[in-house]
Amino acid sequence: VREFRAVLYDGRQAGGRAVVVSMTGEDDALRVVSEAGESLLEVSPPDYAIEPQLGSLPRRIRLADGAMLEVASSDWPPDFPDGSAAGGLMHRLHRAESSTWGWAVAVAGVIACFCFLYFFALPWAARAVAEKLPEVLTTKISQEILDLLDGKMFDPSQMAEARQEALREGFSLLAGRAEDWTSHEIIFRSSRLGPNAFALPGGQILMTDELVELAGSDEEVYLVMAHELGHIHHRHGMRMVLQSAGLVVAAAFFLGDMSSVAQLAGALPVILVESGYSRQFEHEADEYAARFGLASGIGVQPLVDFFQRIERLYGEEPLPWMSTHPATKDRIERIQRLVD
Ligand SMILES: [Zn+2]
Repeated sequence: VREFRAVLYDGRQAGGRAVVVSMTGEDDALRVVSEAGESLLEVSPPDYAIEPQLGSLPRRIRLADGAMLEVASSDWPPDFPDGSAAGGLMHRLHRAESSTWGWAVAVAGVIACFCFLYFFALPWAARAVAEKLPEVLTTKISQEILDLLDGKMFDPSQMAEARQEALREGFSLLAGRAEDWTSHEIIFRSSRLGPNAFALPGGQILMTDELVELAGSDEEVYLVMAHELGHIHHRHGMRMVLQSAGLVVAAAFFLGDMSSVAQLAGALPVILVESGYSRQFEHEADEYAARFGLASGIGVQPLVDFFQRIERLYGEEPLPWMSTHPATKDRIERIQRLVD
C-alpha cells in the first residue's frame, strides 16, 4: 500500500481539503481519507486519470465526477504510475524540457523558424510590399540613389551623345518588335570601377561606358540591358532592399539597438549596387533577357558571348555586380536550356 498526502478539490468546498490517499496493490484503487481518518471516497480505474507531469508543477489526478486531487511533486511516490500512458503533447513537453535531446530539438526549432522567416516569409513580404509601392516613391528612391552614386562612383558619360542615342533607339526598336516590355529609361555614366550595369527600382537601366566598350557587339549590350530590365520587371532591387531593411529592423528589434536602423538608410544604395543579387534573381533576369533575345530575333548567343567574355577577362572572381553566385557556366547552361 502506497500512501501520500494530497489536496482534494471536489467543487463543493471552497479551496481544497487536505487528505491522505492510499493505493491498494491489486486493482490500483485509490482510497481517499480525511486527515481525521474519515473515509471520503474510493475510485478505481478508469474512474480516475493521472495527468502527465509538467515541470515541477503539482501532480494532478482527475476523478470521474469532476473532482481533482493535487499532489505536491515532492510527495508523489516514485513508484506510482506517472501518467505517461496518457502520452500526448503535454507529456512530451515535459520530457523535452528535461532532456538534452529536447533542448536540441527546441534549438533546431528556433533555427528552423528563423530560416523560414529569412528564406520564405521575408522574401515573400518584401515582394508583396515591392509590388504595392507607388511609382512616386520608387522614382524618388531611384533619384536619391542616383544622386548619391553620382557623387561617389560615377562621372558623366564620355560617350558621344549620338552613340548613346543610337543604343537607346536600338534597344527600343528590338523591344518594339515583341511583347510589351517593362517601361524603362537607359542612362549612361562613366565609372571609376569599370564595366558595370544595374537597374534602379524606378525603371532606369544604368550602363557604364566601360561596359559598352567591353561588349563585342551592340547585341551584347542590348541583352545586358534586357537582363537589367528583367531585374526591374521582377522588382528585384526593391525586394532586395526591403529584405535587407527587414532583416536589419528585425535584428535591431531583437538586439534592442535601434541606432542601426538609422544607419541602414545610408547603406541602402551600396547594398543595391555592390552586393549583387541572389542566385534566383539572376536566373530570373537571365530568363527575361533570353525571352527578350528570342522575341526580338537576336537570339541568346550575344548574352552567352558576353558572359564568356567577362569570364575570360575576370576569371572566376568576376566583377562584383556580376559576382556570379550562380557560376557563369551554370548561367550559360540554363540560358541554352531555355532555347532548346
Ligand atoms: Zn543581374
